[in-house]
Order: sequence, then C-alpha cells, then structure tokens
Amino acid sequence: MIIVLKPDCTESQLEHIFEKIEEMGFRYELSRGVKRSLVGVIGEEDQLRNAPLRAIPGVEDVVAVLKPFKLASREFQEHDSSFDLGHGVRVGDGDLMMIAGPCAIEGEDVLMEIARSIKNAGANVLRGGAFKPRTSPYSFQGMGEEGLKILRKVGDELGMPVVTEVMDPRQVELIDRYTDIFQIGARNMQNFNLLNEVGQTNRPVLLKRGMSATVQDLLMSAEYILSNGNKQVILCERGIRSFDSSTRNLLDLAMVPNVKSLSHLPVIVDPSHATGRPDLIPSMALAGIAAGADGIHIEVHNCPEKALSDGQQALLPDQYADVVNQIRELAPLFGKRIPQPQ
Ligand code: PEP
Ligand code: MN
Repeated sequence: MIIVLKPDCTESQLEHIFEKIEEMGFRYELSRGVKRSLVGVIGEEDQLRNAPLRAIPGVEDVVAVLKPFKLASREFQEHDSSFDLGHGVRVGDGDLMMIAGPCAIEGEDVLMEIARSIKNAGANVLRGGAFKPRTSPYSFQGMGEEGLKILRKVGDELGMPVVTEVMDPRQVELIDRYTDIFQIGARNMQNFNLLNEVGQTNRPVLLKRGMSATVQDLLMSAEYILSNGNKQVILCERGIRSFDSSTRNLLDLAMVPNVKSLSHLPVIVDPSHATGRPDLIPSMALAGIAAGADGIHIEVHNCPEKALSDGQQALLPDQYADVVNQIRELAPLFGKRIPQPQ
C-alpha cells in the first residue's frame, strides 16, 4: 500500500501517521517529493487492505500496489498456463483454441452438418448452447438436456471436445455429464455462486468478460474459480457495451496484451459477439491473433437466416474456412499453431 499525503500534511500529522502504522503492526518508508510525499506501508497484504489508513488525518489517498487477484496473477505464476481440452487439443503456450459452431443447438442434423464443416475447416472445439441467456423471455431458450445429448453425440462422433454454456449453479451437475468445457457467459461473469460451483469441478472453464466488466473484474471472477481449486480457466474478450450502435459491442483488443501482462491464463477473442457483424468478424479474428490471443471463438451456421439465435452474426462454413486459412498463415509469426483433435 502507498499512502499519498495531502500537500499540507504537517510534520506532526506525519508523526501521527507513522505511529498509527506501527500500532497496526506494519512498517513504513517515507519518500519525500517536491510537491507531495508518499509513505510506503509494508505488511501482510490482506491486513493492509482492510486497515483504515485513509481515515488518518493528513492522508489524501491510499493506493494498493499488490493486485487483489493472486492465483490468476503473473506474480504467482510467471509462465503461461496451458491445459488439455480433450481429444488431444490443448490451449495456451502456443496452442490456439479454435471454437466454432452455432449459437444454439437446434437439432442433430443441423449441428452435425455445421460441425463437420467447421472441423474440416480446422476448428478444434465445437460450441453450441443448450441453455441460452436471451434478453427476451419470449426468445428461444435452448433445447436443454435434449440439446446437451445432441452436442455430446456429435462431439463424440467427430472426435471433438465440446463447450456449452452453464447459467445457474443448479445446472452444473447436469451439464458436467455432457460437456468437456463449461462456458460462463458475459451475463453471468459475476454470478459468484456459479463461479464457486464450476470451481469445484475439474473441467476447463471458458469465462467470458461481462459487458461492463473491467479487466480487474474479469480477473477477480477468474480468481473465484481458481481459489476453489480449478486451475483451468480460459478468459474470453467478447466486447463491451459502448455508445456506438454500429457494432453490437466494442471489441477491446488491447485487453488481450493487457490481461496477458497481468495474468498467466489463456485469453481468447470472440469477434462474433463483439462485433455482431459477419463483415467485421474475419479481420477482427486476425487482429485477435496479432494481439496475442490463444484462440478465436466464432459462431457458424449453415443457414444463418434459419438460425434460432444470433443468426445475423453467423459466418457461413466457407467464410469460416477462409478465416481459419488466414489464421493458419498468420499464427506462426506469433509462435502459435492450431492443434487438431486426435
Ligand atoms: C454465446 O456465446 O452464445 C453468448 C451468449 O455469449 P456472451 O455471453 O458473450 O453474450
Ligand atoms: Mn451467441
């Protein structure tokens, strides 16, 4: 912690500050500046965070130097995390997680057709929502367990790991029976009970950034999962709300190198939900790789006009194949490769 002193802090106030710090059992170091002085307070991090330092006369501000997230931080683990997603596919440390599939599972034939095409194109994780977080209660809510069965079947038949969204702690046990990876969507990034629950499983968790979540909020949510013992968290940038309605959200690409400097966890980019526009998705996917992402998440549908959810932003299988080909060329420049399911 660093105490910023008020410009008019008197010597006797400073003495009092020192006394208080010592009384609380901490040590201090004074740094005198021309306009303003700082006092570095040294002690056990958690105690420091809760100490009422700001209440001492002469103190203007108290700034935390240590990050509130620990297990997710680079200080805690210097090297990049990487983990197995199933079927020999890994993410992190050079391996790109290429998630593709429809927004929602709509039926076995449709999913099978889409899944075959994205697998041929080079995707290595199949997505599809069975429980959909829709803005309107009247929109299609997903096929539920029926959908999970279809997703599992198609994944097994094609030998691909699958990812699907969990919205509620009560769904964790059910979804755990069918999926390889849990997805926590933007709307649930701070559903702390849900984070605790998936933290107690040993499946990888794809944690999407909330629409108005800061980078620190996202890392704190990851910390919930990690602190429950599950070390396999993948972070996903999917755009944040902005004033500009020309795109669905605002893709914060700087978040990728920003988070990667703070954390060892893999970070992927979802240009589908970030832009909501098929014409922008390919270039933003490439930009994501150039920004250092460990994977790309794209919604694909074989007939977007018939899609039951997010059809307007779905790429056609051929368009997806073009993007993957471009990523395949770009990836080696950034020390990355696309692992294929075994
Ligand atoms: C999704 O992946 O279909 C989804 C609902 O994403 P988000 O939570 O990022 O909106
Ligand atoms: Mn979607």
